[in-house]
Amino acid sequence: MPVEGLDMWRVLKGAGIKYVNFIIADIYGRPRVDVMSIDMAKDAFIDGVPYDASSIPVYSTVNKSDFVAMPDPSAVYIEAWNGGKTAYVFTNTLEGDKPSHLDPRNILQKTLDIANRRGYQFKIGIELEYFIVSGNPPKLVDQAGYFDVPPPQTRKVVEEIMDSFAAAGLGDTKTHHEVAPSQFEVNIPYGNPVKVADSVLIYKIMARSVAAKHGYTVTFMPKPFWGMNGSGAHTHVSVWRDGRNLMASVKEPTPELRYAVGGLLENAISISALVAPTVNSYKRLVPHHEAPTRVVWGLGNRSAMVRIPYYAGKINRIEYRHPDPSMNPYLGFAAIMLAILRGLEERIEPPPPVSEVAYELEGVKETPRHLGEAVKYFAESKIASELPSEVVKAYVRLKEAEWQSYVEKHPWEKTWNTITD
Ligand code: GLN
Ligand code: MG
Ligand code: MG
Ligand code: MG
Repeated sequence: MPVEGLDMWRVLKGAGIKYVNFIIADIYGRPRVDVMSIDMAKDAFIDGVPYDASSIPVYSTVNKSDFVAMPDPSAVYIEAWNGGKTAYVFTNTLEGDKPSHLDPRNILQKTLDIANRRGYQFKIGIELEYFIVSGNPPKLVDQAGYFDVPPPQTRKVVEEIMDSFAAAGLGDTKTHHEVAPSQFEVNIPYGNPVKVADSVLIYKIMARSVAAKHGYTVTFMPKPFWGMNGSGAHTHVSVWRDGRNLMASVKEPTPELRYAVGGLLENAISISALVAPTVNSYKRLVPHHEAPTRVVWGLGNRSAMVRIPYYAGKINRIEYRHPDPSMNPYLGFAAIMLAILRGLEERIEPPPPVSEVAYELEGVKETPRHLGEAVKYFAESKIASELPSEVVKAYVRLKEAEWQSYVEKHPWEKTWNTITD
């Protein structure tokens, strides 16, 4: 590890990097960074980044707070927009000489390892929706709609974000204007779930930087404006075995795809607090805005919670439409994988797919009405029992406090760029 680390430092130094941002992911999926000059960063590549773990939820308490985060040499991304001088380096927090079981990034990695040991590999893709806005209180900055040519003011923002993301080596993306005014969607390249979760954090950082250059803000808040569509983070999943996509078929879903859907639907209410984790998330999950309100699945049905993309009769993945961009992608992806693994191993048959508009269907399970309800379901769930108990306890405590704070004093929800944004 140290040798690899030093090699990585040499590469960055040689490439003209001046600033290194070491990222520690917190329990909200929010990046915390220590910014170092390239020469200062040399030691951190060898010995890790020392930090106060009591100030980053959930790692530790004030009486044992000296932790070290080790740079991950496979997760180094350079930001092009300010002349390519800034690098972002993801880290794994250590516990002794091993990655900490409290680090959300490591929780996701461990879940992948569990799946691997059982013979399954997961590929995940995510669509992130967001609004470009200006001012405070925020105002819409264009009046366009779905697939419209983006007006010049927002077009230059999305094009620059796209360039920045590709220049960082995170791949090609596609972006379109979404249904609501000033709303866009990006498709993050699918693949290894840890890399995709890292990509979400980097995308948000880059989108904010680029928007700020143009005098705008971006918001990933799930429902920033009343009366129009909110922003989802539809998560696409395929499960592989021996190099074969178990979900690939023509016309009829495979048994494995059905079991994966069965596991996801059976556990969807339990994991709601992870994939739709904020007070505001539940304002998105209302009828008639292409977000799910009923725990059902369907082929090509955008009112269902799980949609099977069904273009030209071909099937190769499932789309889980419940998550929104306030999700911690590490914990959210881990929970989604655990739910699907249950479905596969217990051969859980889902109820028949739904072809009608599902928003107000009777006699089927509904999404939780609010965060308070969702947290209760999660705390008592099978999925929670498979995650590290300290993390579950801390998460439940923090989310209950968020809900209570909202119940007691409503205005905080309107603040900008908080942990919930
Ligand atoms: N914005 C919708 C949501 O909240 C999705 C709309 C779409 O992608 N067609 O999930
Ligand atoms: Mg889409
Ligand atoms: Mg969309
Ligand atoms: Mg979608």
